[in-house]
Amino acid sequence: MKTKITQSPTIAARFIQHGELVAFPTETVYGLGANIFDEDAVRKVFEAKGRPSDNPLIAHICDLSQMESLISEITPHAQKLIERFFPGPLTLVLHKNPGVPAIATAGLDTIGVRMPGHPVAHQFLRACQVPVVAPSANLSGRPSPTTWQDVKADLDGRIGCILKGDQTEVGLESTVVDCTGSSPIVLRAGAVTLEQLQEIIPQTRMADHEATDKPRSPGLKYRHYSPSADVTVCTYPQFTVSLDDEAYIGLDAPPQPASFKKILICANVEEYARSLFHFFRECDQAGVRIIYCQAVDKAGLGRALMDRIERAATK
Ligand code: AMP
Ligand code: MG
Repeated sequence: MKTKITQSPTIAARFIQHGELVAFPTETVYGLGANIFDEDAVRKVFEAKGRPSDNPLIAHICDLSQMESLISEITPHAQKLIERFFPGPLTLVLHKNPGVPAIATAGLDTIGVRMPGHPVAHQFLRACQVPVVAPSANLSGRPSPTTWQDVKADLDGRIGCILKGDQTEVGLESTVVDCTGSSPIVLRAGAVTLEQLQEIIPQTRMADHEATDKPRSPGLKYRHYSPSADVTVCTYPQFTVSLDDEAYIGLDAPPQPASFKKILICANVEEYARSLFHFFRECDQAGVRIIYCQAVDKAGLGRALMDRIERAATK
């Protein structure tokens, strides 16, 4: 299959209407979209990514009127979070409408719904005229793509179209919040932080994936976000020697930055989050063996950043 690369949301949307897959930019990472009501198209998403079929997809919408066809009911908590955070990097898990094909939600009776705030994503979704399922547009197990070139490296020849945009602003996947229970539970940390959610609904808490909340988000059992290189978390970078097949990313410069094969010193946590996945990919291309990632405080966006780094560091 020849993959069309375009900057036109309307051209890209035609692929969706013809049952093909389109990678498109959002504020989090690039998504791989298909018409949620076209079972064959949704199946292609799992095939193109090599994604396990028990890992549910997130539905993307351009306005609230599209919610009706996806969910059975907006709970009061969900309503509050929608008012504050939609459009934006937040996915809400709600009970699904029976009309949504089971394949899209991996057989679950719930569905994750998000309204991206990115203008190109919005134009594309509006032109599609249907809600679009979209996991990250990478091969399963690889770091999520934050540039259209990263998408091309993984999926060229496997999908219908790539809608070109800039490097994504956030760089980490959306915050996923389960709104089906008595209080909201954060299943995956992201750019909408726990602290921000608690300002709206104080009883919001992080999922305890080790214990009772484990089955809630099937995708979290898979190894994610991983480069081929080994990832090691470090605190203050006191390297006195480094080998020429090692790399470093963090907020503080190590004493001898010159001896790393690749190095990226980020001005703040936002830049660190934005750059992480692309840095992982660059390190793989350069044949780096070990990537040292400096730890940051697990507060605000730092919680999501450390979640991705620790997952990448888990073999
Ligand atoms: P990705 O689309 O690759 O960013 O991954 C989507 C994430 O959202 C995975 O961790 C899924 O397990 C999670 N997710 C999607 N839909 C649901 C749902 N209905 N219930 C719980 N988690 C979900
Ligand atoms: Mg993903």
